[in-house]
Amino acid sequence: MMISSARRPKPVRLPPPRSAAAEFRRIALPVLPEAAAAVLPVGDPPVCPPGPLSAAFADPFTPHKILNHFDRLRQFVDGQLVFPITVEVDPTNVCNHRCTWCVSEQSHTGESLGLACFQSLMRELRQCEVRSIVLKGGGEPTVHPHFVQMLDAAHDAQLSVGLITNGSMPRAGSREKTLQRCEWVRISLDAATPQTHRQIHGTGDFARILQNVAYLTGNARRTMVGLNFVAEARNFHEMARFAQLARSLGAAYVTIRCVFDAARPLSSDLRDAMRQEAVAAKQIEDGRFRVFLGNFTDRYLAASPSDAVPYPRCLGPNLIGIVGGDANVYACCFLRGNPAFSFGNINQRSFGEIWRSGRRQEVMNAVYAGKCNRVCAGGLTTNRYNHYNEILNYLCAEDKPHAEFA
Ligand code: SF4
Repeated sequence: MMISSARRPKPVRLPPPRSAAAEFRRIALPVLPEAAAAVLPVGDPPVCPPGPLSAAFADPFTPHKILNHFDRLRQFVDGQLVFPITVEVDPTNVCNHRCTWCVSEQSHTGESLGLACFQSLMRELRQCEVRSIVLKGGGEPTVHPHFVQMLDAAHDAQLSVGLITNGSMPRAGSREKTLQRCEWVRISLDAATPQTHRQIHGTGDFARILQNVAYLTGNARRTMVGLNFVAEARNFHEMARFAQLARSLGAAYVTIRCVFDAARPLSSDLRDAMRQEAVAAKQIEDGRFRVFLGNFTDRYLAASPSDAVPYPRCLGPNLIGIVGGDANVYACCFLRGNPAFSFGNINQRSFGEIWRSGRRQEVMNAVYAGKCNRVCAGGLTTNRYNHYNEILNYLCAEDKPHAEFA
């Protein structure tokens, strides 16, 4: 049962307070002398910006998307409490695949969110001005018995929805509802053949997943459908074939990344072979199909745990909320299932109360101090927290030389 907060507690100030000297410099605009002002033309001021550009320039993949939320970044940097822009929700910790390298394997502990709990969460997120949710795992979202109703609940709360799935979609009506309710869906396929898929995912449902992908791409009106591939020693040779398969199925894009284990770095031969395959996959790109290569550079492939992290504090979790299938709100997706990094449980308190709580501040202070042990291999992988961390750490810096320049 959800408990609503009647009073709004005093906001927690984030990040840790800066000194007065550290306040952002306010830039005074020069005042024109009267004589100079007199010669300026009189009339309508110039229109700025000069009208909207075609939608073709609004790339949904740009990392600059975060700038659409600059109001929230500014509030955060000014020390105000901000709610997340996106909340990632695991409907369940149950998964029907057995991927050997799955980052969520530790959280496959069998819990699921109840439908009433999920519906209540959606309403709370809306109240907290969260703008979007991503259904992911944890477990496999589409195995939840109320997956279809969950999509309706998110829609009713006017939240934009993305879905990350293994594509199995075992519940009746899942494909149709996904196309009605989701802005985008990304299917983790990781193979171009049933044999390799079985090796990686431990299941025999490759053909069924391809049928689901074809249904989604063939009937999508606004939902962008993409496929994901995590390359490792057993499947990397199928990268180019995978890109071809995705294009032939009508997918809009593929993302191809390399599995990352800093403790067991790949041999240089394997790295070279992977890079060649990645280049071949990139050739499949055309005007309507894109191939994104995540981390096929030396910075990532040859990284070591002793490499310095390129930012002082992990601030990104302030912009992304994580709700696990066990109903706990976690600091980041890599810390799911770790009670030391849980802010609280939505079966006991509302999401808003949890986000405003002293417990969240306490956990985030531990994160800022690096006590999460950076299990994401922060700075060495291409996870999105890195991008947000670079922006937020810069904006939060006390003294920014040349900040007055554009
Ligand atoms: S450093 Fe990595 S593991 Fe730690 S909170 Fe940030 S994203 Fe999560």
